[in-house]
Amino acid sequence: MEQEQKPQPRPPYPKQKQRAPGLESKLRPRPRFEAPLYKASGKLLDKRALITGGDSGIGRAVAVLYAREGADVAIQFLPSERSDAEATRDLVEAAGRRCYLIEGDLSEETFCDECVQQAVDSLGGLDILVSNAAHQMRKEKIEEISSHEWDYTFRVNIYAYFHLAKAAVHHMKPGSAIVATSSETGLMGNKRLLDYSATKGALNAFTMSLAQMLIDRGIRVNAVAPGPVWTPLNPSDEGAPPEKVKHFGEDTPMKRPAQPEEIAPAYVFLASDADSSYITGVILPELGGTTLM
Ligand code: NAD
Ligand code: MG
Repeated sequence: MEQEQKPQPRPPYPKQKQRAPGLESKLRPRPRFEAPLYKASGKLLDKRALITGGDSGIGRAVAVLYAREGADVAIQFLPSERSDAEATRDLVEAAGRRCYLIEGDLSEETFCDECVQQAVDSLGGLDILVSNAAHQMRKEKIEEISSHEWDYTFRVNIYAYFHLAKAAVHHMKPGSAIVATSSETGLMGNKRLLDYSATKGALNAFTMSLAQMLIDRGIRVNAVAPGPVWTPLNPSDEGAPPEKVKHFGEDTPMKRPAQPEEIAPAYVFLASDADSSYITGVILPELGGTTLM
């Protein structure tokens, strides 16, 4: 018999604040990544995946589902997130697959290259790149965005995607896939997320263009564009005060944010030839009922 989804947590949430990048272990309520209704069927058997920002949030949920689908994974994270990364590794290993930890800052081009190399060395190759890490800091006014902040947001959110993809395709055989994490802000803009939204818009155009460029090499490239998701990203955004976090996601048609377990299956879909062999260059919205046209 089909199990029913237990109701997902709704705002109001407890007021909370963390320093970026934040820890999933400190979030209340804890994000859901278990996907109990999801039935794995070996769609990614023996694939090797690198997931940036795989310690927490969407990246953790993707790591866990990939492992359940039979993939080995390497996850990248920042030094302050090691405890979250170790928890993700335990979850992947509990699903019977290998998980390698890669610590470093993706705003550095040299680390992007090293990150791919470490993933290739530990996994024995690379079939899937999930470019998912991002930096986000809301600002009310354009004057508040320093050149440094502007530059850093672009380096983490879009430059790293370029450097990682460039290094990764060198190792990828036909049948491989790249999946990036975009955002609704890249489709609609956001008045408090000028720099972040601009990087996500660039990410969308880059994804569509790289998809076309790599068709002849048999590598598919797609992105997922979520609406609000309950992860450390927003509670550790300096521009999102605890009172705002309390009501996070309330203004969507479903009146709540997504849980990571509701976003992650799209990453299996887009990485798996069983599901999406004719799909490349797509930006897949997961918006809880918000419509775009
Ligand atoms: P998260 O905080 O769990 O993940 C973001 C990760 O980015 C962090 O875990 C961190 O490891 C990584 N990161 C940040 N700065 C970095 C740097 N300089 N170098 C290396 N890694 C760095 O939050 P999340 O919400 O799961 O974010 C994952 C993706 O989802 C991001 O691309 C984000 O833009 C996107 N997204 C999130 C939401 C949301 O509401 N949470 C909505 C739309 C899109
Ligand atoms: Mg994290």
